[in-house]
Amino acid sequence: MSIIRVLPDHVANQIAAGEVVERPASVAKELVENSIDAGSRHIVIDVEAGGRRLLKVSDDGDGMVRDDAILAFERHATSKIARSEDLSSIATLGFRGEALASIASVARVELTTKTDDAAAATRILIEGGKMRDVKDAAHPRGTTIVVRDLFFNVPARRKFLRSEATESFHLTNLVTHYALAHPEIAFTLTNNGREVLRVAPANDLRERAYQVFGTEFLDNLLAVGGGHPKIALVSGFISAPRDRRTSRDAQYLFVNGRFVRDRLISRALSEGYRAVLPHGVYPAALLFIEIPLEEVDVNVHPAKTEVRFRRAAAVADAVREAVRAALASGGYVRADAKEQSSATGDQPPAETLSLDIPNAMSATADAAVTGPFNTAGVQAFETERRVIQPPVTQPRIEFAAATIEEEESLSEPPELAGELVSSWQEQTAGAGGSSPTVRNGVPVPPEGAGGSAIQLPPLTSAEKFAREVSVESLSSDIRPLGQLDESFIIATDNEGLLLIDQHVAHERILFDKYRALESARLAESQQLLIPETFDLTPAQASIFDALAPELETYGFELMRLSGRTVAIKATPADLPAGEARNMLAEILDTVDAEKKGAARETLRDDIAASLACHAAIKVNMPLTPEKMRWLIDRLLKTSSPTTCPHGRPVILRLATKDILKGFHRI
Ligand code: ADP
Ligand code: MG
Repeated sequence: MSIIRVLPDHVANQIAAGEVVERPASVAKELVENSIDAGSRHIVIDVEAGGRRLLKVSDDGDGMVRDDAILAFERHATSKIARSEDLSSIATLGFRGEALASIASVARVELTTKTDDAAAATRILIEGGKMRDVKDAAHPRGTTIVVRDLFFNVPARRKFLRSEATESFHLTNLVTHYALAHPEIAFTLTNNGREVLRVAPANDLRERAYQVFGTEFLDNLLAVGGGHPKIALVSGFISAPRDRRTSRDAQYLFVNGRFVRDRLISRALSEGYRAVLPHGVYPAALLFIEIPLEEVDVNVHPAKTEVRFRRAAAVADAVREAVRAALASGGYVRADAKEQSSATGDQPPAETLSLDIPNAMSATADAAVTGPFNTAGVQAFETERRVIQPPVTQPRIEFAAATIEEEESLSEPPELAGELVSSWQEQTAGAGGSSPTVRNGVPVPPEGAGGSAIQLPPLTSAEKFAREVSVESLSSDIRPLGQLDESFIIATDNEGLLLIDQHVAHERILFDKYRALESARLAESQQLLIPETFDLTPAQASIFDALAPELETYGFELMRLSGRTVAIKATPADLPAGEARNMLAEILDTVDAEKKGAARETLRDDIAASLACHAAIKVNMPLTPEKMRWLIDRLLKTSSPTTCPHGRPVILRLATKDILKGFHRI
């Protein structure tokens, strides 16, 4: 007896829905894409109960004639491609012809649509994939789709929906993405009847970003523009290195106007920040990549959020270079960005420095990279919560809001994120009489899930008076005067007074040196008279073997003894023997499973940054005038004298004109 059968359409559709319709935001994504493809100028999205109860998308696009409207719900029914050749150059957002069929198979759908020519609109009711009714209706040109009771007939899927707050959050993000990708279209989003986002048609991305995020947002970003029309044109905005985030949530990436989650691009973006942001810390970015249609395959995943590039390496190069150039124009790296440090003499002259002075300050500064201070950068985008007056009236959306999908391994596990949302909800319930999940009409990310709830002063707070300096404004004429708190060098240049953080300055010098020596294969070792032994934790042991060769390129000599014990036989030159063990532990602890997949160069940067940090002079250490002079001279020769490998500023300047103003002399 034969046992294979062809599945009926409604079952096939439900299976397809599993991939296309993951949650309310993915329904909204398909519907909004359809509206954009139909040439709409205004798109209105209304949701109730996080989109489970109701999700409605209205547009003023082309609309459909009755026959098309009926056909639109068939599987593989599309107006966007006709032949297989068309697959190689897809200019529309949709093309698979399965979204409406999938959505209609797992919800109650009502579609009303009208073309310019038709006398009346058509209304179609479909429930769980079954066509219930087709009739005339009243509707202006365009289309309205109402999706009710998502997953009403698939209880197993309904269970996977998260809290209303989480789903609303994803919906808001989705609409934000499309609003950014299409400044020419007006978008309105309401949640339970309250307006969350309303943007009028804008002239360009800058104006749209301003409508969505507010002015501070733009003030804190660097414009990106670069690439090559035949490979990839790259435009948009990126954050300054001081804005450090622990997830990629604030990265909005688009390829040909399509919102994507692409590892290649996000990795290239991170590589652009090489040596000014450590691994595991991410910039904010709004990046638009325009690629010739035939160079990119969008038919990789049913949700179309993944793409494949024909010339992936060239695309990655274009992104990295454009980011690098933007950082250079912002004064964060040198335009030529080559390693300029010579390979020798990077420890201060004269007597050896005692490195064991306990110092709380250095510990605090280092903790900034991994500690809660990370989120402070987010605050720069938040500041006071005020509503900007019309015509650009827009409550601001937290830029750090989570993306549509939790990035694999980078965000909270979904359940946890959900729990955080609800615990956060409880904490804030009843506050100010507004819905607990929404601030300024916008879902706010819960703490720990890409959120920004920790109240810390913004990293930019020093800007009011003493400002970060750009590479260009640095002359070689810097004269050290003395030290403040035995931690900061006080110096003058032609523009005013400088404060140089001695630890991070030396860190930058050593980082460049270690990188230069490593790539020239000239790393120097110092043999230890008595090898130090070091017991690995099980987690450290599991990655030790993979990491040991990398560490050895920097001058470590390591030997695995029995079990989890390791002997350190030699350490990189300049690394005080007492620091070797700490540094190894730090590297083994921070290079977790996620980082193992990272580019080798990035891993080497991490090691160099850690080495530099442990070998550098500390704060709370007196320096002789010669040492200060030496430190400044060396610093000026590095690749990024103003930014340390962890993204922190190295030099602050108090301009003479601000001093004059302060004394009311001008
Ligand atoms: P696809 O977008 O991949 O073509 P869909 O299932 O999303 O497939 O939609 C099927 C077809 O229905 C589209 O090709 C389009 O012709 C039509 N359609 C869907 N939504 C709209 C809309 N909002 N306005 C006009 N036509 C639409
Ligand atoms: Mg579609």
